[in-house]
Amino acid sequence: MLKLLVCIKQVPDVDQMTIDPETGKINRTGVPSILNPLDANAVAAAVNVKETYGGEITLITMGPPSAEAVLRECLAVGADYAILVTDRAFGNADTLATSYAIVSAAKQIDHYDLIFCGKETIDGATGQMGAQLAERFDAAQITSACLIHTVDEANGTLVVERELENSTETLEVTMPCLLTMEKTHYPARMPSLKGKMAAKKKVITTMTSADIPDLDFNRIGDSGSPTKVPRTFPPVMPEPGIVIDEGSVTASVAKLLTFIAE
Ligand code: FAD
Repeated sequence: MLKLLVCIKQVPDVDQMTIDPETGKINRTGVPSILNPLDANAVAAAVNVKETYGGEITLITMGPPSAEAVLRECLAVGADYAILVTDRAFGNADTLATSYAIVSAAKQIDHYDLIFCGKETIDGATGQMGAQLAERFDAAQITSACLIHTVDEANGTLVVERELENSTETLEVTMPCLLTMEKTHYPARMPSLKGKMAAKKKVITTMTSADIPDLDFNRIGDSGSPTKVPRTFPPVMPEPGIVIDEGSVTASVAKLLTFIAE
């Protein structure tokens, strides 16, 4: 049976977030938390594979206890199991420490054939996690995957299309494989009432650092994070441009020349 793992992250709704220009601190007060939008597409892709080829889907997230909400949201659209990796010891982690903690936890539970990620988050937005997780899972990786053509469980391969700047390319890879998903062909699934009810009853496996034997505490949390963020600041927006439209090219060019001369 195909074992599918989907990595999801609870993120603040960045549209409602502000940065204090004096202190450079992010103001999260009253900002709601949501499922990272591209992770909903990753879940939809996994559900699509399950519906077509069979298998079971496990979700994993590292975050605060409140991240249970996004796990339930994804359980409601077709995932079977969920793991919440949560512990103060994991806090202040950069991507290096986050990927180490996630893979260390996942490996305690099972071995996975296909691992799905969103392409990037809307808060950290480094886009580094997919590549780091693939390396730590010792899995092949296809970034910017947009369409899964076939999964051949017997041969342990899959054929995937990935987006390039102006085209796509189709690749055949061996499992285990990690895909970072584009949203192109896998719109977020809407939960049914039945799905929501079932999700409420599902057991979420919570893992702390104590549940991971041989965890190297020097590689998690603050001490395992070489990335330092000295300052955060809102981007300086450029002055809005001027549109010159005098009704014809000749008139517009004449106006532009006058403008430049002035
Ligand atoms: P991306 O690489 O853009 O994500 C790609 C995909 O990876 C996502 O779509 C998703 O599928 C998967 N993914 C990403 N994050 C997770 C996750 N947590 N669980 C499961 N799957 C995931 N964040 C905190 O919440 N608390 C902190 O205290 C904290 N301290 C930080 C300190 C530093 C110095 C830095 C640099 C970052 C800190 N972060 C903290 C942010 C945290 O490290 C990142 O959010 C996390 O590593 C993921 O990076 P990203 O958001 O850029 O993910």
